[in-house]
Amino acid sequence: MKNKEFETKAIRHQIERTQQREHSVPIFATSSYMFEDAEHARALFAKEAEGNVYSRYSNPNNDEFVDKLCLLEGAEAGISTASGMAAMFVSIASFLNQGDHIVACRSVFGSTHQILTQLLPRWGITHNYVDIHDIDGWERAITPKTKMFFFETPSNPALDLIDIEKIAQIAKAHNILVNVDNCFATPYLQNPIEWGADIVTHSATKFIDGQGRMLGGAILGRKELIEEVMFMSRHTGPAMSPFNGWVLSKSLETLAVRMDRHCSNAFELATFLSEHNRVDMVKYPYLESHPQNELAKKQMRQGGGIVTFEVKGGLERGRTFLDALKMLSLSANLGDTRSIATHPASTTHSKLSEEERETVGISPGLVRISTGLENIKDIVEDIDQALMKDSN
Ligand SMILES: *Cc1c(COP(=O)(O)O)cnc(C)c1O
Repeated sequence: MKNKEFETKAIRHQIERTQQREHSVPIFATSSYMFEDAEHARALFAKEAEGNVYSRYSNPNNDEFVDKLCLLEGAEAGISTASGMAAMFVSIASFLNQGDHIVACRSVFGSTHQILTQLLPRWGITHNYVDIHDIDGWERAITPKTKMFFFETPSNPALDLIDIEKIAQIAKAHNILVNVDNCFATPYLQNPIEWGADIVTHSATKFIDGQGRMLGGAILGRKELIEEVMFMSRHTGPAMSPFNGWVLSKSLETLAVRMDRHCSNAFELATFLSEHNRVDMVKYPYLESHPQNELAKKQMRQGGGIVTFEVKGGLERGRTFLDALKMLSLSANLGDTRSIATHPASTTHSKLSEEERETVGISPGLVRISTGLENIKDIVEDIDQALMKDSN
């Protein structure tokens, strides 16, 4: 499969069929697996033979999902997890020991921020944040105990970018692992490993499922790294459900066509908004007005499904806009077939202080749109009528 194109890998990578000759893969709803005989059991436990033992360790549906994701990301090995946050936590916890240090971009997902600031310090693991535009800050933040760089690009919700190749070069010179949360871009738009990242983490809950049905996550990387991750995962138990593995493997079959439409809808919406007289600022990586448009074109194949903008008049007008939407859903989620509007300052990023929000590019009136797969005319029409609504 390695030499085939993205869509072909996503559709044709499959586990072996059973004697029933089924065309679609069955769900292996089993907690454990039988041994051929006593010798087979011994060999499996001694790791002299390969095979399934227990679904906390491996399951055919989860393997199909994650092996396919590896093919799409260009990773040697991977493991699936029950949620994106399980992937973030396990991918960090597998490599850091007491006293170690992590450097992260300040613009990380809310729960990742809680892991770094509230949970890891309990085990003596400290961190430093670097502002997203401060590329030299990564080098300055390194201590003798720094083991990992962690970041997301594009960032949520400001859609600022980080040059993966540059950060990876700094990390290599200091023997530091680079862990990239590639949830916003998906493997269809961006492959961090190609630019030097060591570990790629995903929340499969977003565009990979793409239909707002379930949680899932994955950790990908070189074989020797993923072995460490497997040890942590097998014995702490954040395993994916086989049903979720089955659904998510099917979801990958349509990722390319879905992302093409998410991206073309988002680009059209961003273009419309940038000409709207009730909008102050529009951010979209593939708009020429994006300050890092060059970088976007270097490391991303398209601009992604998310658009952020500032409603003229700040917080109050932003609220009027959200309440006036008739079709778009108000939700904190993203990466669904349904378009979603989010007000980060009062929801996803409400735990940050106003000053912290400012440093990660979240102004009071900022709105994030996860552009769905409805017809773009209807998406634009709903947003336009909501923008035109008067606040009194
Ligand atoms: C949603 C999200 C996560 C967390 O994933 P869950 O599946 O909700 O646990 C992590 N990182 C990013 C960028 C996300 O958008």
